[in-house]
Amino acid sequence: MADDVDSKPKHNWIAYPPRKRRKYGVKPKMRATVRNEEPACRLCGAPTEEIDHIVPKCLGGGDERSNLQGICKPCHLTKSAGEANFMRWHVYRPKKRAEGNG
Ligand SMILES: [Zn+2]
Repeated sequence: MADDVDSKPKHNWIAYPPRKRRKYGVKPKMRATVRNEEPACRLCGAPTEEIDHIVPKCLGGGDERSNLQGICKPCHLTKSAGEANFMRWHVYRPKKRAEGNG
C-alpha cells in the first residue's frame, strides 16, 4: 500500500493568501489612556482626535506611552506628511514628476 496519506493539506496560497496580522501597535486601552491624559493637541491645543507616534514606527519608535502623544487631525496630517516627505528623500528616491499642466 502506498504511503501517500497526506492528511495535512498544504497551505493553499492562492485560495488563502497568508495574512500577516496587521501590526497596529497602539492598543485601544493605550489610546484611551493617551486621550485621557492629553485631551488637547500637543501642537496646537485643539481637542485630541488621534494618537500619534512621536517617533514614527518606521524610524524605530515604539508603542510605549512615552512615544505617544495626543494630537488633532490636522496636526497629525501635517506631521505625517512631513514624515512621508522626509522618508521620500531619505529612504526612497524622489519620484520624477512628469511634466504637464500643473
Ligand atoms: Zn493640533
